[in-house]
Amino acid sequence: MEIVIEGPATNSTPRAIGRPATPLTLNPRAGTCVGVHLNQQDIRLAIADVSHSVILEKSIEVEPGYSPQCAAAVVRDIVTVAYGVCGLDISALLGVGVSVCGPVSPGGMVQRANGMPTWAGVNISQIFGAVLEKPVFADNESNCSALAEMMWGAAAGYEDFVLLKLDLGVGGAIVRNGKVITGVAGGGGEFGHMSIEPNGGLCRCGNRGCLEVQIGVDRSLQEMSRLYGRIITIYDVSAMASQGDVGARRMIEDMRNRPAEGSPLSARSSIRRSSSSAGV
Ligand SMILES: [Zn+2]
Repeated sequence: MEIVIEGPATNSTPRAIGRPATPLTLNPRAGTCVGVHLNQQDIRLAIADVSHSVILEKSIEVEPGYSPQCAAAVVRDIVTVAYGVCGLDISALLGVGVSVCGPVSPGGMVQRANGMPTWAGVNISQIFGAVLEKPVFADNESNCSALAEMMWGAAAGYEDFVLLKLDLGVGGAIVRNGKVITGVAGGGGEFGHMSIEPNGGLCRCGNRGCLEVQIGVDRSLQEMSRLYGRIITIYDVSAMASQGDVGARRMIEDMRNRPAEGSPLSARSSIRRSSSSAGV
C-alpha cells in the first residue's frame, strides 16, 4: 500500500502558471506504529497511524526495578488487547519505537548512568524485537523528544537547536542540520552528566558535581526525604505545597531557580577547560 497519497486540493496557495501542483499527504491506511516510553514506575504507550494521528494512548503502572523481559511482555499484552479493542490489524503494525531515560547506543544498547541501573548493557531492540516479533527502534527519551519537538513542537522549522530536559534527572539532545547528534555510544546530548562542580556531590555515573546533581529534582527530593524522615515523592511535594507546607513551597522555588542559576563560575571554567583540551 502506498505510504504517500494525493491529498485533498486546497485553494490556500495562489495559482501559479503551468500545471497545477498535486498536494500529497501521508496515507493513514498504510499501517500503524507503536511508541513506548519506559519510565521508572510506569510504561506509557501510544498507537498511531502513518499519518501521525494517535489512535490510542495507555499508561500502565509497574513495580520499580522491573526487568526488560517483563516490560516487553507487558507491551506485547497491551498491544494485543488494544489492537483487538480498536479493530486494528496487527499485521499492519510496521514497527515499535522505545524511548528510555538514559543513553542508548545506535544499536539499541542501554548505556550506564541511566534512570534504571539494572538495564545497563541491555539491548532493547533485541529483547523487545524477540517478544513483539516486529522491528524495534530504541533511543534516549530526550533524543525522541527532540525529534517530536522538531516535527510538531517548539522546534518546528528549526534544524539546529539544543533541547534541555529537567526532570528527576537532567537530559538533553543536540540537533544539527535536522539530525540528532548521538555520539558513538549514544551520549551526545547527555548534559546531565557534565561535571560543572569538580568538588560537588557524587553522581550515579561515578563523577562529581554533574549538572544533574546540581539542579536535578532528585537531589531536592532526597533532601526533603531526609528532613521529613520518610520518602517524599514529587507528588507529595505538590500536595504538601498546596496545603501550605513552607518546606515544600521552598523546594518548588528552588527547583524553579536552580536551572537558571546553576554554578556559572564553575560552568565557565569547566567549559574553558574542555575547549582548550579540544584545541578550540
Ligand atoms: Zn553524572
